[in-house]
Amino acid sequence: MLLFCKVSVVTLAAFLRVPLVAAQLPAVPSQAKVTPLGIVLVEPEAVTPAAVSQWKQERFNAVAVVLDERTAEARYRELARHISDGGLDLYCWIEVARNPRLAAAHPRWMAALGSHEDWQRNFKNFPKPGVGEVAKAFPWVPIGYREAFDAHLARIEQLLKRAPPGWRGLLLNDLQAGPSSCGCGNLQCRWAIDYRVPPTATKLDGYDVAARFVAEVRKRAVDKTVIPVWTTECEEADLPADKHQGKPGTGLCGTVGCAIGTCPEAFTRQWSALASAHGGPLGLLTLHTALQRTQKEFGGGPGWVTNAIAYLDKTLAAKGGKAISADRLWVVVEDTRNAQAVTARELATKAGVGSVIVARAKIDQSFEPRMISAK
Ligand SMILES: [Zn+2]
Ligand SMILES: [Zn+2]
Repeated sequence: MLLFCKVSVVTLAAFLRVPLVAAQLPAVPSQAKVTPLGIVLVEPEAVTPAAVSQWKQERFNAVAVVLDERTAEARYRELARHISDGGLDLYCWIEVARNPRLAAAHPRWMAALGSHEDWQRNFKNFPKPGVGEVAKAFPWVPIGYREAFDAHLARIEQLLKRAPPGWRGLLLNDLQAGPSSCGCGNLQCRWAIDYRVPPTATKLDGYDVAARFVAEVRKRAVDKTVIPVWTTECEEADLPADKHQGKPGTGLCGTVGCAIGTCPEAFTRQWSALASAHGGPLGLLTLHTALQRTQKEFGGGPGWVTNAIAYLDKTLAAKGGKAISADRLWVVVEDTRNAQAVTARELATKAGVGSVIVARAKIDQSFEPRMISAK
């Protein structure tokens, strides 16, 4: 059989007058996955010539650098030189919704913790909202309010002025609502704006707010790729036992059953609006520690990246949403080099995604409650 194959390839090569190596190409199994683009995500201060050569040895193709106000334009120019001298590509990463400066300056633009009170179990010393008060998730300022949408666009426009020459793409993190958006306490519950609580800013209607925001950023980023980074919602394992046939779970949603309620519906509509309007890559944030996905018995730990991708496939299929091909998916994973036998990077690579972004910058997803007057 082996001989037969070998002869037939040689014969075919001779017949087609093509080099043998080319004729052998189809012999590669068709299910073989293309190596994803490897990106290491770092803070600007981490970029040195030595670090760049180390990243190259680790088979990274590109470096994504956090673009923010703390770092001057001159430093970005310098680090871009180190990266291009080392033969790697450069991407920029902007944290959008989680912004302490904006939250402190405009508390009324902060994301509300929805009307469920389950988030309070994690903040026992925090007073319950009184009459005329609304609890907010500091320092989250989501683009779902008109005022914040405009402020974030203006900020990005300013930040892009300090982006160094030669950058290839811009990753935009946190374009959904704030964490615990229904009030369940789960950091991944991102679908709602002002869930049954009084608004303190102008809510934008529609499921396509992120799609519209990305379109505006693309105008400002001209010829560069813009990659929105998305987060999956509450999972079935987060359901309380009494809403899950008595099964034990993560407890992340407290007593709330949103994981099989509005979460997947709204997730599907928001994701689909984005995936339809935006033809490029879509990012998926799968940082298991930052998102409190550490309980291995419920699919947490480094393996959670696989579950997050499965959530996407399963939810979109069940709710009639817009799926995208795996190569359009750019997955952000935690750096688990030293701690784990099988790393999150390897698992994401196995899933056949277009890019694996290993986060060595701190991407915080936490919040603290703040009370403000709703009037
Ligand atoms: Zn919820
Ligand atoms: Zn939820």
